[in-house]
Amino acid sequence: MSELRRNPITGEWVTFAVKRGARPYDFVKKSEAKKDSSKTCPFCPGNENETTKEVFQNDDKNWSIRVFPNKYPALDFGDCDFENHSFYENMNGVGIHEVIVDTPNHNEKIYDFSSEHFLDVIKVLKMRFDDMKKRDFIKYIQIFKNNGAEAGMSLVHSHWQIIGMPVMGRIQNDTLFNALEYRKKHNSCVMCDMIKNEIKENIRVVSENENFVAFTPYASKMSYELWIAPKEHISSFGEFNEKHIEDFTNIFHNMLKRVSLINKDISYNICFMDSPIDENKKYFHWYVKIVPRIGNFAGLEFSTGTFINPVMPEDAAEVYKSKKV
Ligand SMILES: [Zn+2]
Ligand SMILES: [Zn+2]
Repeated sequence: MSELRRNPITGEWVTFAVKRGARPYDFVKKSEAKKDSSKTCPFCPGNENETTKEVFQNDDKNWSIRVFPNKYPALDFGDCDFENHSFYENMNGVGIHEVIVDTPNHNEKIYDFSSEHFLDVIKVLKMRFDDMKKRDFIKYIQIFKNNGAEAGMSLVHSHWQIIGMPVMGRIQNDTLFNALEYRKKHNSCVMCDMIKNEIKENIRVVSENENFVAFTPYASKMSYELWIAPKEHISSFGEFNEKHIEDFTNIFHNMLKRVSLINKDISYNICFMDSPIDENKKYFHWYVKIVPRIGNFAGLEFSTGTFINPVMPEDAAEVYKSKKV
């Protein structure tokens, strides 16, 4: 069982998951994959017994999507007891941590998936999200994908992770604070207003369809950062209907192809920015961010949270728009 500890100075929760130190690693050093790792890869067909038992598989034998609990979970099932009998606040690391392997092919990249298969992957993510939401100890659900060693990927075989957490993260806390401040002044949602402004200015918008818009955010932390948001006020991935899923999948896949054209071996993180599962949910406007990992975090970023970005988002948008996909 891991342990969550709250930093009393910043209010941030930190997860201590000592078991994760034992997990396999597929890179010799940063960005260099081990040779022949497909033979020993626990995510390849034929090696299913190297993982925990699946909770979903889209075919008994010839599966193309397979979901199972993480063998080295950051958070795990258990009793959720707070132990606030010292100066510090901590709690058991209760939660759910699953892995979604989205292709049976060891070296296949997400931007090379067929549109049909990519749609199936998004539907499986939604199904796991909806299932996790039913557990009453889950307060926030994070879906994410690490692509490349610089993005924290440990195995090269394409996969997603979904973590049901017992607490809300610092970014969600900050997002809520800002949303409430904005609402006090303008009586509206800051993301709804931002999207209207982006579409009107049309400088940072890379693409849009009926329900979604993709743009490089005005204050991008990282070079070539991309956000995709619904045009209407939707708070959670769980609220998507069939048409939302279809429109989102189309624009999302298209953006991933454009990211891969910046540099074929680019590392990036994909983060589904959802709302907490409580009464504050309605103040959140769902979006996904694709964050290329060009450059490193250093002293200024760690000490102040202020990032230095050498690429203006307006220029990044032009580069993305020029890519032929
Ligand atoms: Zn593999
Ligand atoms: Zn909104």
